[in-house]
Amino acid sequence: MESLDELYHEVILDHFSNPRCKGEMRNPDASVEVYNPLCGDRVEVMVQVGDDGTIKDISFEGSGCSISQASASMMAEICEGLALDDVVKLYDMFDHLVKKGREGYSEEELEELGDALALEGVRKFPARIRCAVLAWEALREALSKARGGAS
Ligand code: ZN
Repeated sequence: MESLDELYHEVILDHFSNPRCKGEMRNPDASVEVYNPLCGDRVEVMVQVGDDGTIKDISFEGSGCSISQASASMMAEICEGLALDDVVKLYDMFDHLVKKGREGYSEEELEELGDALALEGVRKFPARIRCAVLAWEALREALSKARGGAS
């Protein structure tokens, strides 16, 4: 029988080998590039925000360790089509999950993180937490840029 760790490991490798939403975007409303010098990771997140305040399109480019790139792929996959406020909630939940754990969130809420839940194990490896949150930081910055541009 597979352990949870092995299952998580497979999900991470799958996103790393077959990234979702990866590629350049022609006319992004905002794009933000962030670096994690400790590990050598780079993630650029590009977004288009619709008139209804949802993420119309999201993609990323980047290079680095499997955690940073898989996290970007997972994030893009679950955030596409979401309202910006919901993305901020997911950001906070993910940030909490990899730094402090599941406490304070229901199973139902955690399910909203989709495959990104597979990264909760990085909590045990403080040096890798930055790898996991890098893409989310880029997204958060890109959204505030896109928002600022629209108002
Ligand atoms: Zn890394």
